Amino acid sequence: MAYEYDSDPNDERTISHQRWGSWSGFLADAPAGTVYSYRDAMSQGIPAEFSIPNAVEAYCEHCKGVHPFNPKDIHGETLERELMAGLFTLKCRRCCKSYIVIAVMAEYVQGIYWRLTKAGQTPPPGPPLPARLLRLLTGHSELLKQARRAENAGLGIGAYAYYRRVVEVERDVLFGEVIKYAESKPGQDDVVQAFTDAKQERQFTKSFDMVKDHLPDQLKINGENPFTLLHAAMSDAVHNWTDEKCLKVAGSIRTVLTAFAETLANVRKSEDLIKNAIKDLREAGDD
Ligand SMILES: [Zn+2]
Repeated sequence: MAYEYDSDPNDERTISHQRWGSWSGFLADAPAGTVYSYRDAMSQGIPAEFSIPNAVEAYCEHCKGVHPFNPKDIHGETLERELMAGLFTLKCRRCCKSYIVIAVMAEYVQGIYWRLTKAGQTPPPGPPLPARLLRLLTGHSELLKQARRAENAGLGIGAYAYYRRVVEVERDVLFGEVIKYAESKPGQDDVVQAFTDAKQERQFTKSFDMVKDHLPDQLKINGENPFTLLHAAMSDAVHNWTDEKCLKVAGSIRTVLTAFAETLANVRKSEDLIKNAIKDLREAGDD
């Protein structure tokens, strides 16, 4: 190769360069505003890679998974001698139904290297949030989407702060779901009482502590109480955490919330099935 990848040491935005190690990785996953630069001392022309995004692995909203996208159309426009705008249209190779459009600005800096800035991408990079989770926390779905955006962008401290806020403002909704479930079952008075008391508690972490021994087994995730897991994530030690650790914990909060939303939905679904089966069998017996 005539060039080597390098980040621009004077540009703070290249801080996340390592995460988007390859050109196709940058196209698929980097958030808008990310800079990707490489040195190409030999060439003054069009940046070589501007024209060859091989199949890009990206999330397909139609296939609901990561699949190769083929370049369908690439349009480059020279604005000045050392300034170009590029528009990439990619199409999912598997379903041939979904597209990704990416805009990139390319500047040739000081006659030394190309600096490529992602100007935008639709749909934004990364898998979207599960519908069940958005439905459960519908009161703050925008906050949840901001959390996911920050997480996809690799902004650990930001993502953690957003997810933490989601848990704080949706605490009563989460506790309320447990109360609703327990009220529909006989012999769950202690659960209803514990979660009702916890909803009244103003101290957030204390309220999570109050429910740690009172969750019905059916609502546990792999045998664990999701509120105990979230309690651990709400640690005050966060002030000492690195950006990387915050990003990891942010992802764990999302995973636990998603698992809880799915557990609730599955429990309801299987109970509806059982109820209908009982009803059908009773009616059959009456004939
Ligand atoms: Zn697809």
